[in-house]
Amino acid sequence: MKKLFLVLFCFSFLFISNSYSQEIKSYNDQKETVTKYLSERGEIYFRFFVSSRDIIKKLANRISIDNVRDNVVNYEVIAYANSDEMEVFRKYNIDFEVMVPPSLQFPVKTSGDIREIMAWDVYPTYDAYITMMNNFATTYPNLCRIVNIGSTVQGRSMLYAVISDSVNFRKPKPRFMYTSSMHGDETTGYVFMLRLIDTLLSSYGTNPKLTELVKNIEIWINPLANPDGTYYGGNGTVNGARRGNYNNVDLNRNFPDFYGTPSGTRQVETQNVMNQLNRYNFTLSMNFHGGAEVINYPWDCVQPHHPDNDWFLNLSKRYVDTVHLVNSTYLDDYLSNDPGIPGITNGWAWYYVYGGRQDYMTFFTGGREITAEISSTKLLPQAQLPAYYNYNVRSLINYMKECLYGVRGIVTDSVTNLPLKSKIRVASFEYMNDSTSVRSDSTCGDYHRMLKTGTYTLTFKSQGYYPKTISGVYVKMDSTTVLNVKLRPMASGISGNESPISFMLSQNYPNPFNPLTNIKYSIPEYGKWKTENGMVTLKVFDLLGKEVVVLVNQKQSPGDYEIKFDGGKLSSGIYFYKLTAGDFSDVKSMILIK
Ligand SMILES: [Zn+2]
Repeated sequence: MKKLFLVLFCFSFLFISNSYSQEIKSYNDQKETVTKYLSERGEIYFRFFVSSRDIIKKLANRISIDNVRDNVVNYEVIAYANSDEMEVFRKYNIDFEVMVPPSLQFPVKTSGDIREIMAWDVYPTYDAYITMMNNFATTYPNLCRIVNIGSTVQGRSMLYAVISDSVNFRKPKPRFMYTSSMHGDETTGYVFMLRLIDTLLSSYGTNPKLTELVKNIEIWINPLANPDGTYYGGNGTVNGARRGNYNNVDLNRNFPDFYGTPSGTRQVETQNVMNQLNRYNFTLSMNFHGGAEVINYPWDCVQPHHPDNDWFLNLSKRYVDTVHLVNSTYLDDYLSNDPGIPGITNGWAWYYVYGGRQDYMTFFTGGREITAEISSTKLLPQAQLPAYYNYNVRSLINYMKECLYGVRGIVTDSVTNLPLKSKIRVASFEYMNDSTSVRSDSTCGDYHRMLKTGTYTLTFKSQGYYPKTISGVYVKMDSTTVLNVKLRPMASGISGNESPISFMLSQNYPNPFNPLTNIKYSIPEYGKWKTENGMVTLKVFDLLGKEVVVLVNQKQSPGDYEIKFDGGKLSSGIYFYKLTAGDFSDVKSMILIK
């Protein structure tokens, strides 16, 4: 009894000493601890409580917020700050608790023995990591090459394993990217990525599903996006890892976003990634973090949903649902009411991130990125790594496959047939300066626009070419619609901006048709029609001159257009289609045979 009482007493003591309010103090009361952490580690890990989201929003670009939990009566905020950020935070007079950094709470094992590391239940030393990456390329020279996108502040390498069945030459297929640990102390994904590289390479030719992925996708995997942060304690250990890079900057608050470029100096690690993303088109990516268990999708820095919100949500659900088949209590943090599903959150609804990579990737580069917070414990104890990998591996594989669905094709010059770099925009998705458009690759001309089920109008634009708009493009979930496009070059040698083309209405094809046919037409850059406010109509009439259907009735920019006409509801016979723009009009006939 006495013993039990003692146990209970100890429990309650622990409970009290760990309860939040006991540790929350003013800056002056813990000045020494703050100074100690800032001088030893350059950053401080702390938490505080605030009553409104407005304050969190104000603080979001002043300190590095890591997590926000809604406690109904208030919000608990977990954050990091460097010296400058702490100076700014002090001015808010918010009491806080300094916490032990995640990477110093308990030791984890780091090994330099590659055979031991490849049992995947230990963290690698920096040197072992570099050796392993190079080994992948030397062991599988036809499937893997290592790309160093640049050096960090301290001169460590930012390495990608590029995995493809055509790894030494470019094929028209989507580029996919996984990257982990841009917060140096969130290391679970680091080991996952190494293991995934090994799994993809060693399964090629034996596992049909993985073989298909390597054949159909160019996969880029960067296990360690912030090596200076992860090895802050030295190349031989991940204990002591920290969030920021060597300059104490949070790299996931350092990218340009909707509001421009964040204050503070752009770090070399950020610039390396920006150069890489601007040089290559990535169709889809995922960015691994820790400190929570949730899938976070765009946007992080603005409230309105992305036009592809349903699609993002669907991908997030698939990831989480598949994980829950293995472990229903993992990846189930409930962090916002949007969308109101455990394990999934809209970025903005959870907390605001300015200068984050997810939004940069999605807003500026034509890619789509989701952030995965994959372990509540940032430096996951090494023995738990295999179990966590097992929870995630099916989702990791299925997620890659998503970049194969939607509309894809090759954009070429109609005269030379050479591949073209172009922008592809979905009409009803026009949003914030082309932020939803995707790009075709300059080497192969291939583009990949992932979309949910629906019928879309796509516009293809390339400098020096007439834009082309194609309507009636049908996309079905989990399948691929192929749409190859030729763009007509603007004639050279004509001075000024005078357009060399005139109106043109082409014969439909196929003709006769049943029930689908395509109608192409062109709108010139200058002409009388422009005085009519750019209104264009394309209508279908029957033999008696009765209007049957209006295919186009809107303002249209100069360019080439292609409209799908479905005669499914009409009876067999001859029909006319008439294009009108300003005082131009032209009529052609077509035959529907059922
Ligand atoms: Zn993070």
